[in-house]
Amino acid sequence: MARYTGPVCKLCRRERTKLFLKGDRCTTDRCAVERRTYPPGQHGRRRVKETDYLIQLREKQKARRVYGVMEKQFRDYYAKAVKQKGRTGENLIRLLESRLDNVVYRAGFAVSCKQARQLVLHGHIQVNGRKVDIPSYQAKQGMVVSVAPKSRESAVFKIATESFHREQVPWLQVDRKGMTATVIELPSGINPDVQIRDELIVELYSR
Ligand code: SF4
Repeated sequence: MARYTGPVCKLCRRERTKLFLKGDRCTTDRCAVERRTYPPGQHGRRRVKETDYLIQLREKQKARRVYGVMEKQFRDYYAKAVKQKGRTGENLIRLLESRLDNVVYRAGFAVSCKQARQLVLHGHIQVNGRKVDIPSYQAKQGMVVSVAPKSRESAVFKIATESFHREQVPWLQVDRKGMTATVIELPSGINPDVQIRDELIVELYSR
């Protein structure tokens, strides 16, 4: 599956908000959004007319970038969200929050969603005791996500678990020392770090 490999701070600057893509650096004064409050590029400081379409597009791009999902896959999530009961926007965020890489990040086993994705891809993560190396794998109620026993001594996990300072999401029960996390209920349709106005994404795709 394709993924974005360019500079991530540019993505935050483009959205003019912190997307927390770089772990601890995001909470320091080295954060690029704090240092340069205008969008990147030669014309970044130009005034742009904010049309409804532009606002909706930016909100969709923001959501896509927070979860590291490419356009095609994001559309597939949207199509799934439409078919589910309840508010489409909320369903969409819930589906994105339920991705295995996001669960690993929320559990504090990685300092960023990007790092979590890599750890999953490299086979360091188990689901119900079996290796799963698919970052988009969907979390289900009762599922136990853990760091593979052979990887627990790795510095990456030690640094991530010891430096965890985010608020714990209520849908996840985490034993950070044991490096296991249980999904006690499906995630809420809200991203706890970045405010995503999901109704704008629905408006965009309903055009
Ligand atoms: Fe870079 Fe993190 Fe700041 Fe975004 S929030 S600009 S990823 S340091």
